[in-house]
Amino acid sequence: MRGERIGCTCISEPEVGSNVVEVKCQAKRTGNLIHVTGQKLWISNAAQSDFAVVVCNLDDGISMVIVDRAGKDGKDNYQVRELRKMGLVGASTCEVFFDGAETTADHLLGKSGGGLFQTLKLFESARVFVGLTSIGIGQAALETAVLYAGQRSQHGKLIGGHQLIQGYLADMATQLDAARLLCQRGLQLLDLGVRCDTQTSMAKWYSTEMAVEIAGKAVQIHGGVGITKEFPVERHFRNAKIMPIPDGTTEIQKLVIGRNLTGISAFS
Ligand SMILES: Cc1cc2nc3c(=O)[nH]c(=O)nc-3n(C[C@H](O)[C@H](O)[C@H](O)COP(=O)(O)OP(=O)(O)OC[C@H]3O[C@@H](n4cnc5c(N)ncnc54)[C@H](O)[C@@H]3O)c2cc1C
Repeated sequence: MRGERIGCTCISEPEVGSNVVEVKCQAKRTGNLIHVTGQKLWISNAAQSDFAVVVCNLDDGISMVIVDRAGKDGKDNYQVRELRKMGLVGASTCEVFFDGAETTADHLLGKSGGGLFQTLKLFESARVFVGLTSIGIGQAALETAVLYAGQRSQHGKLIGGHQLIQGYLADMATQLDAARLLCQRGLQLLDLGVRCDTQTSMAKWYSTEMAVEIAGKAVQIHGGVGITKEFPVERHFRNAKIMPIPDGTTEIQKLVIGRNLTGISAFS
């Protein structure tokens, strides 16, 4: 909590993405010791991490266990491989390997078997934060587009004076504001401590998909220069395209909303 040590959260695996229930990573308790074995994928900040919160199968089912990176004899307790992505290149995303990584029973986070509930609660808030990051990307793309529209002239006037370009900018600004309001509502509900998976799922899918649309229109407004590395807007587009994936894809958010509306789960 003092921010002195960096953590990472290890939920996803090569065979387990949208369906957390199928986590395969195993933890075995022997007396006061717990040994963790398994592979995790897409883990943010793992390369910089001092410890990992690992979702794994322990005695009573899916549980969360803290594993310190520093192991015995100065060796790392887990190995990390950085993955190269199309965007968000400033943020580390890694594959993580646990091969009998040792931790102690007091490093169990919450109850043994309570890990699935804890993970779903974590997603409830994480989704709003992914939405907020997307709003940042969308805002940057909109500002870049407005600036360019006020500088580039075609057909005898600034492109920002053409009605279709103004229509694009109006759409982008409106979508961005709607996304921001959905995220603000999600944050308010999280602060109140009430169940809000419907609202945070709405905030997540809408904000992330709108960031992709907004950044795409910003590239369009730039014409040819929009796809070059010489202008920042292609980077906004690549960053935006990533956001509908982490912490539950757009499809999964819509299934959460649909289940809460109908009482029927499309997952089973
Ligand atoms: C930048 C980034 C950072 C991440 N950080 C972390 C992290 O720190 N920790 C961590 O544990 N994970 C992390 N993840 C992993 C992320 O949560 C998963 O990528 C995500 O849950 C999707 O899983 P998957 O990639 O295996 O896709 P899959 O689950 O294989 O899905 C593939 C496609 O099928 C669709 N699909 C799946 N099931 C259904 C269904 N029932 N109905 C309809 N469509 C379906 C999905 O929507 C998607 O379009 C990160 C991912 C990214 C991209």
